[in-house]
Amino acid sequence: MYKLTRSSLCMVALLGLSTSGAFAAQVLGPDTDEGDLVPTGKGWGERAYPTPHHNDHANPNGAAGKTTANGINYHGGPVMLGTTSVYYIWYGNWNGNSAPSILTDLANSIGGSRYFNINTTYYDGAGVHVSNSVAYAGSTTDAYSQGTTLTDAKVQSIVASAISSGTLPPDKKGVYFVLTSADVNETSGFCTQYCGWHTHGTIAGLDIKYSFVGNPDRCPNACEAQTTSPNGNAGADGMASIISHELEEAVSDPDLNAWYDRQGAENADKCAWTFGTTYSAAGGGIANMNLGGHDFLIQRNWVNAKGGYCSMSF
Ligand SMILES: [Zn+2]
Repeated sequence: MYKLTRSSLCMVALLGLSTSGAFAAQVLGPDTDEGDLVPTGKGWGERAYPTPHHNDHANPNGAAGKTTANGINYHGGPVMLGTTSVYYIWYGNWNGNSAPSILTDLANSIGGSRYFNINTTYYDGAGVHVSNSVAYAGSTTDAYSQGTTLTDAKVQSIVASAISSGTLPPDKKGVYFVLTSADVNETSGFCTQYCGWHTHGTIAGLDIKYSFVGNPDRCPNACEAQTTSPNGNAGADGMASIISHELEEAVSDPDLNAWYDRQGAENADKCAWTFGTTYSAAGGGIANMNLGGHDFLIQRNWVNAKGGYCSMSF
């Protein structure tokens, strides 16, 4: 969650992918007199809420939380431990689109990577660290059960329906991704204020973590790093970076009360739209890592060690 000033910075970064100005403003600013902010899961590069929500979340450790020397602080809530399950809900019309193939390969290969290993620098109040372990656990399709104009509440309804109908299991160790085709809008700010978000809610009596990621083909200038992409599908390749962003935030801050900085930025927010060293991909465009046989251009993530820094690996 960010103030309006950050919203405008965010849009500069989204449109131009020139990360210098916005990145400098985002990362490691000096402590200020303003109160600490809390994340909404819809942060920089994703959403900037127009109004602060200082009191949305309990803070067991008090207003300031625990401060580390790494530019991101622990606020007492849980992290996701052990193997995290990834579920995909393909919403809308994905017929003939290679995204399910590309992004299923991503989900099958991100766990165990040097990239996802960054998340093992995050831990809970007992000192138990996030594991470098992700399991792709299944998918389902949803042909517009909530129409083509979604609200945040409808996104949760899509997840709840997939679980209540039994097409996906109830799994408190899972992250459920609602992946929408390019003809679907999310009216709380997709393409104008964010490219994706993550949150949690009570579904089937469990604390269910879920995420919205729209097809950035709907707004390439805002949500795609490149329109010629390694896997010949700029929308899917754009989603790979956004899914990774939301997944690493979900494991380190699943209930929006664990790891974030004084500005409310979660780990991935601190490195959004930065990619480190890239190379020319055989399939086109540029990439910075190969996972599951695919070249991808995936944003960096914040290492909670050695003073804190954005990296592709740990
Ligand atoms: Zn984020």
